[in-house]
Amino acid sequence: MRRKFVAGNWKMNGSHAANAELLAGITAARPFGCDVAVCVPFPYLSEAAVALSGSDVRWGAQDCSVHASGAYTGEVSVGMLAEFGCRYVIVGHSERRQYHGETDQLVADKAKAALAKGVTPIVCVGETLAQREAGETEAVVKRQLSAVIHALAHCAGEMVVAYEPVWAIGTGKVATPEQAQAVHALLRAQLKAATPKADAMQILYGGSMKPDNAASLLTQPDIDGGLIGGAALKAADFVAICRAA
Ligand code: 13P
Repeated sequence: MRRKFVAGNWKMNGSHAANAELLAGITAARPFGCDVAVCVPFPYLSEAAVALSGSDVRWGAQDCSVHASGAYTGEVSVGMLAEFGCRYVIVGHSERRQYHGETDQLVADKAKAALAKGVTPIVCVGETLAQREAGETEAVVKRQLSAVIHALAHCAGEMVVAYEPVWAIGTGKVATPEQAQAVHALLRAQLKAATPKADAMQILYGGSMKPDNAASLLTQPDIDGGLIGGAALKAADFVAICRAA
């Protein structure tokens, strides 16, 4: 039986005051019956670590460099994230792929760099609306996941996968439970062909997950949790999703 996992992706949001309130709201609602994490902007990792250490709420980052150190202005290495106690790092979010030109290969290299330092990558895959309408969903997500599986070879079982249909992110248009489950089942089958750990791997759904639609998504057999954007910025909403998991 897989444990459910709810992770907040704060994206480029937050301030000292807002973070303190949000983190206090989350920790006050413990214990949760599922794994819970927040992925915060780099400058706030330190305060997340202070607020959450000693609790069972984990924290992580939203991106990392493939490089260990050196002349890469603006980049942040996984070793640095590990020093701040990050348990997770999101890689290949569609916003990184879209606005920062991240390729399948770069995403795979980031996942590999994370695992090499003991940080679990949350690998995002997902199709655009045009790709879905053209019947390309399966081909797109398979291609994205395959690059990562190939790069990780035998340690692919140590990652978390997030299916985030691009058309559902921040749009309020959530995938139906059946649409999401269908893609999760495909991803699970692809993982099964690659690693004996596939049945234990958490595959999260992301894209307009809110308190009122979380339960119907989270009861699907291959949906093991959520990667939450907008609803992760309000403690009451995020906590309600954690409770639904
Ligand atoms: P929203 O929940 O705001 O749609 O964002 C989802 C997401 O991109 C999480 O990574």
